[in-house]
Amino acid sequence: MKKRHINLIITITTISLLGIVFTQLYWVKKAVDLKDEQFNASVRMALKSVANQLLDYHNDSTIRQIQEFGPECIIEKTNIRDLINFSFLDSLMQEEMGCMKINRDYEYAVINYLNDRFVMGKYAEYEPELLRSKHKVSLKALYRPGEYWLVVYFPYQKSMILSQMIVWVILSALFLVVVIFTFSFTIYSFIRQKKLSEMKSDFVNNMTHEFKTPISTISLASEMLLKPFVFKSSEKTKKYAHVIFDENTRLQNQVERVLQIAILDKGEAKIRKKELDIHKVISKIVANFNLVVSKRGGKVLFKPNAKDHIIVADKVHFSSIIANLIDNANKYTPENPKIIISTEDFRDGVKIFVEDNGIGISPENQKQVFKKLYRVPTGNLHDVKGFGLGLYYVKTMVEAHEGSIKIHSELGKGSRFELFLPRSNKKNITHEE
Ligand code: ADP
Repeated sequence: MKKRHINLIITITTISLLGIVFTQLYWVKKAVDLKDEQFNASVRMALKSVANQLLDYHNDSTIRQIQEFGPECIIEKTNIRDLINFSFLDSLMQEEMGCMKINRDYEYAVINYLNDRFVMGKYAEYEPELLRSKHKVSLKALYRPGEYWLVVYFPYQKSMILSQMIVWVILSALFLVVVIFTFSFTIYSFIRQKKLSEMKSDFVNNMTHEFKTPISTISLASEMLLKPFVFKSSEKTKKYAHVIFDENTRLQNQVERVLQIAILDKGEAKIRKKELDIHKVISKIVANFNLVVSKRGGKVLFKPNAKDHIIVADKVHFSSIIANLIDNANKYTPENPKIIISTEDFRDGVKIFVEDNGIGISPENQKQVFKKLYRVPTGNLHDVKGFGLGLYYVKTMVEAHEGSIKIHSELGKGSRFELFLPRSNKKNITHEE
């Protein structure tokens, strides 16, 4: 699939997913508002019912008189307290709130809004809230003068409503999280698979290319060997036989490198740890590389600073680790490579540094280069052959020796690989022969 199409699919799916999230949030909010509205309506009905029952109870001649003859003459003689019996009001409130399944968590009062005076009720902490509460019913049918209202306040109204819906809210949040997680995971795996398949096809291309050159050289050299003027001359025969031998060795090494990774992946790599003088091993490798590097106008320096340079390690793998790092330092330094290898004591082990003045590695790529088959996308920067296996091998082997590896690098300035290997198990091993 083309990159453009993939990006389009990801964008459309992300937008749809965001749409679902917002719609879901909108519906949850709507449902909460609706419940709130329902609650308010039920409270309104309950208060009306209380007011009506109070009115029915006191619907005697005195009240009728008050209503018929107006407040002027009788107002001083009556008081709202005479009309409403607190325990009766309380029992009515309990009954009505009980019908709404609210047994506690509410305060109520009869308030005169002309002077904000509390006449009676059950209230303790929420007087200001009661004064502002929207749940109220006028008592003017019961007692005209003044502005008397029966008011109720629910301190936990929002949480009561939410607690009724909590299961649905949690379920929808849970499903949303699952959908978002699975979507992100699918995209992540998809991109990973795509990268992996690109890396694999790069690897196959590289391998074919790397194998093609020695194979065609061997084929040319053997063809020459078959020619009478060549096999009659021992000089020429020797020359072509050498070419075949060298190219065959190159092929063998390449096959070996690929096979080594297959062995590593299966976890079947054999590690034979012995006491090892790393300065001795590094010196030999440095001497070999100097032959190659000096031809490119460069040099490999070794600064053996560690005082205790005996560690327990597999000699073959340790040599391959160092050789891989120096080989990379040489490969990725376009001109006059100056490669410095140094050692220093560190806690219960040694640190080994391999430093070059090459092309460097960008911070994003520093995290990736240890991955199997990963090669830095180079653009036109350089055209260096490789399989993307060297650093994967180095890291796997360093970790098999309970060590660690870090990169310090800056694009265009060079790289410094820092290895740490513990001296460990010195006592339980065989001595180097
Ligand atoms: P290969 O060299 O076969 O491609 P490696 O696993 O050895 O594979 O390295 C992975 C990538 O890391 C290389 O493709 C290269 O881009 C980058 N790299 C490794 N060593 C260096 C270095 N010393 N300087 C700059 N880039 C490096």
